[in-house]
Amino acid sequence: MPVAAAAWLDLDPGHPFSLAALPYCSFSTRQHAAFHRVGVRVGDRVLDLTTAAERLLPGRSALFRDGLLDPFLAEGHGAWADVRAEITAWLSQERFREAVEDLLVPVAGAELRLPFTVADFVDFYASREHVTTLSSILRPDADPLPPSWLHQPVGYHGRAGSVVPSGTAIRRPCGQVRGPGGAPEFGPTTRLDFEAEVGFVVGVETVLAEPVAVSRFAEHVFGVCLVNDWSARDIQAFESAPLGPFGGKSFGTTVSPWILPLAALEHARVRPPSRDTELAEYLTESEDWGLDIRLEVRINKQLASRPPYSAVHWSPAQLLAHLTASGAALRTGDLYASGTVSGPGPGERGSLMELSLNGAEPVALADGSARAWLADGDEVSITATAPGPDGTRISLGEARGQILPAIVETVR
Ligand code: MN
Repeated sequence: MPVAAAAWLDLDPGHPFSLAALPYCSFSTRQHAAFHRVGVRVGDRVLDLTTAAERLLPGRSALFRDGLLDPFLAEGHGAWADVRAEITAWLSQERFREAVEDLLVPVAGAELRLPFTVADFVDFYASREHVTTLSSILRPDADPLPPSWLHQPVGYHGRAGSVVPSGTAIRRPCGQVRGPGGAPEFGPTTRLDFEAEVGFVVGVETVLAEPVAVSRFAEHVFGVCLVNDWSARDIQAFESAPLGPFGGKSFGTTVSPWILPLAALEHARVRPPSRDTELAEYLTESEDWGLDIRLEVRINKQLASRPPYSAVHWSPAQLLAHLTASGAALRTGDLYASGTVSGPGPGERGSLMELSLNGAEPVALADGSARAWLADGDEVSITATAPGPDGTRISLGEARGQILPAIVETVR
């Protein structure tokens, strides 16, 4: 049974940020701009958890004192469950009203920042529909799946320092592209794209040479966020033979400011498609960690796509097992993303490259304009919801960014 909010909160049980969600953030207010606090979203307000823990949870208040989630992420599953249960009690029981009511601030007045220190960033390529659509566009005569793809998740190590919170503007990048005659030219990308993805935030670290079993996913991963892996397709195409993405993806990666704990996604768990294939033992899972997260992508507030995360082939538990199978160590704050989420339908593709068939068929928007690629000034918003209790849907918030024109002066 879902826990009902206390009457004094006046919170609709169907609110996308009901007590079934309770995502975490890091915020400050205009009145106290230098005081960064850990927050918890409840309805249209944010609970100041840093101060609430000092009042009601003194044994754990040090975890929230810095205003970042890092110490809490490192503390592990027991602390994650205890704190979530405490917060739920504070917000559902009349007797806590006096202790927490003055710590709720309107979300509109909260300045949100990156809620944790991003350690390493890894991006995968886990959606079969994304891979096959790209293959049909770029290599129509070749096998739609690379030879290893059904046997192991494909991914690459990205750039943690370029991860930015929702609302940060993204500067159109410059790089080398293949010019009309085949000779390289340096300049602003003309094929700027988004990639709608789901990100996973690692809490508990490991040491080198200690793989994480697929069954131990929820002991290491704290929660999920939304990711826009902005991509410059022309730069990426020229640089990626023979190695992976470099400058074509390192100019900004947007994440939503709310980290939704895995505990909030119990109603969203579904069987991932990879479970129908015989796999190496380290990728064979007995629990279902596919997630029925429904994404929506908007360009300038107009719906462009609805990618379904449930269609993604590899589960996040399999991605983590594969990431660490080599012995690679995890650090608190590691972020790994699903790769572009695409579904089988034409309106379910998670990138413009797929929606516009590599620019050949620009996507029509409701205002009468069309986009083969993103234009300067365009704002891309990725939002998502997941099933909550009793047929409700909970929100994962928004990853939003606006494109600024390139700076074209050559750096000498
Ligand atoms: Mn990506």
